[in-house]
Amino acid sequence: MSSGTSAQGPRLRPTLDGIPTYKPGKPAGADAYKLSSNENPYEPLPGVLETAVKAAGSFNRYPDMGVTELTSVLAERFGVPAEHIATGTGSVGIAQSLVLVTAGPGDEVIFAWRSFEAYPIVATVAGATPVPVPLKANGDHDLDAMLAAITPNTRLVFVCNPNNPTGNVIHRAELERFLDAVPADVLVVVDEAYIEFIRDPEVPNGIDLYRDRPNVCVLRTFSKAYGLAGLRVGFAIAHEPVAAALRKVATPFGVSRLAQDAAVASLRAEEALLERVEALVEERTRVVAGLRAQGWEIPDSQANFVWLWLGDRSQEFAAACAEAGVIVRPFPEGVRVSIGEAEGNSIFLAVAEAFRKSL
Ligand code: PMP
Repeated sequence: MSSGTSAQGPRLRPTLDGIPTYKPGKPAGADAYKLSSNENPYEPLPGVLETAVKAAGSFNRYPDMGVTELTSVLAERFGVPAEHIATGTGSVGIAQSLVLVTAGPGDEVIFAWRSFEAYPIVATVAGATPVPVPLKANGDHDLDAMLAAITPNTRLVFVCNPNNPTGNVIHRAELERFLDAVPADVLVVVDEAYIEFIRDPEVPNGIDLYRDRPNVCVLRTFSKAYGLAGLRVGFAIAHEPVAAALRKVATPFGVSRLAQDAAVASLRAEEALLERVEALVEERTRVVAGLRAQGWEIPDSQANFVWLWLGDRSQEFAAACAEAGVIVRPFPEGVRVSIGEAEGNSIFLAVAEAFRKSL
């Protein structure tokens, strides 16, 4: 029954009917490699774990609502004023807040498609209209088409760099040209969840782009390179009106003390964490080379995953991987496979090789 027309229960917003119900994936068995959520395969660094365990000792108390220490460490690390930082329950929580502070019914939210699946959901939850703009055939953002999609009702544009799930990146000149063409009253969110995995020198750091552009917001997470996915902490960097608005709508006490302290400890242990990122990038290089040697045409991923354009054979491929003990993520257009432990990556490569021969 449509949620807005329920005869017996409370009236729910009809707009929710457009949002797919979350179906949890089958949990990876203990002996399966989970390459489906772009997580960091390394266990927490001992020092970070120790900090989190210590913080757990006070979970009878609310955390610091102002997220003071983490905010000041971030401000120093990235050379931005503390007032320009807003933290949240994962960057997806902040993405939701970004829509809430800019768009409502009748307003439009533009994003490339396929891209991060949360964009249409957070737009719809706010009552706004999601406007997906197809990627180019090679998986690049079609920035000209995204510009052309802007109307007087557009309030927010998400740009995912590198793009999840294809891994393609947008280069500096192209992104700057785009940002300068977007009307000043439209917020552009540059989602850089995977920035630490980029090795292409032509890709800009969004923080350099936001500084003299009041309508640009950079979105970052501790879930990927920093390995804190389960603690739910991310942050946005934006000029003060946007950052202050984000702080207004944030779930009170949404970032736990564990998350705050572990994020601070991770920034202090950044060198060790970035060594792990380097190892994952080396694994990505091995996986990409292996797939290309098998004959796959794949995007030049700059993130911690690779993408196979498998179309209607995606489910079949994912099933073959699961059979071999590797959980990957099928979409209607293709399959995304996270870079994980070397053994898991090798099993995936073996499945890809056999599958390729069957095409
Ligand atoms: N942005 C992108 C592009 C992502 O792929 C993800 C996670 N899959 C997120 C944001 C959200 O990450 P989190 O909420 O864990 O910070």
